[in-house]
Amino acid sequence: AAKGDGRGIHRFYSSEMHANAEDRRQLEEDLRHALASDALYLVYQPVVSSTTERITGYEALLRWNHPVRGAISPAVFIPIAEESGLIGPLGEWVLRTACRDAAQWIEDIRVAVNVSPIQFASPGLPSLVMSALAASQLAPERLELEITESVFLNDDDGTDATFARLKSLGVRLALDDFGTGYSSLGYLKKSPFDKIKIDQSFVRGAVVESSRNGAIIKAIVNLAEALGMDTTAEGAETQDELALIRNLGCSHIQGYVYGRPLEMQEVLERQRIHGTVALTEGFQSS
Ligand code: C2E
Ligand code: MG
Ligand code: MG
Ligand code: MG
Repeated sequence: AAKGDGRGIHRFYSSEMHANAEDRRQLEEDLRHALASDALYLVYQPVVSSTTERITGYEALLRWNHPVRGAISPAVFIPIAEESGLIGPLGEWVLRTACRDAAQWIEDIRVAVNVSPIQFASPGLPSLVMSALAASQLAPERLELEITESVFLNDDDGTDATFARLKSLGVRLALDDFGTGYSSLGYLKKSPFDKIKIDQSFVRGAVVESSRNGAIIKAIVNLAEALGMDTTAEGAETQDELALIRNLGCSHIQGYVYGRPLEMQEVLERQRIHGTVALTEGFQSS
């Protein structure tokens, strides 16, 4: 019986794994097709200044409506794109589209674009950024590139050179999901970030487990201020979280409390009606 169970388990796992590999292969093919046929789109989530309560920019977030499976999260398909090499053309499309959209906004506010560590490691990134800016006529200071701590896993001279070249183009750099990666502080000393984005996991529990998460957020804010960097608290959903985060001194806030990501047309409409005035969820449901 033991042998039978073992075989059963083995068969179960191998068919699971086969299904997963098959699944991924199919998704990769579908993603390749989606990219070629304009089935991907960007949505934009407001980032709000704590001091002025104005929208200072929007973060571009990639969306994919799969014809059969419906909406697939970027947390699922970005890793597939990274493993298959599709992240190159995909990342280029995101960067060019976000720059072109932002150049058409009514206000001259920023657009933040997520850059995969794989994209960051490719030698062509600075020239791609330059080309996207030139084609869209977007001012470099209006573009903010969001990079996670994992770029430092392959920390070498190439990483430093890429930072220096991007900085010399005049774009802004943000360190995304801070506190969730391997969090060595050494790179904060030498890397020219303009902003630290505090991961949602600290923000989300900040009200309930106030002392611990609050202490961590406060420490990150102090560190960022001492280094001359802004901070964005990610993922604030409630008025209580908003109040707490403002108290802790984060310079910017991004989260459902100030709005979910909007499609380009909705951004334009919002700008026409409200300009850069930030509204919390309660006021938006009109
Ligand atoms: P991220 O860059 O940290 O983006 C923030 C994520 O938090 C987004 O999820 C956003 O919709 C979500 N979020 C914002 N406010 C709230 C909130 O109040 N509550 C909750 N529960 N969630 C909130 P999304 O759009 O699913 O993206 C997930 C991740 O996928 C992003 O995390 C980023 O790492 C990656 N990603 C998205 N678009 C791109 C892209 O164009 N290129 C690359 N390389 N990665 C992307
Ligand atoms: Mg981001
Ligand atoms: Mg993040
Ligand atoms: Mg993230």
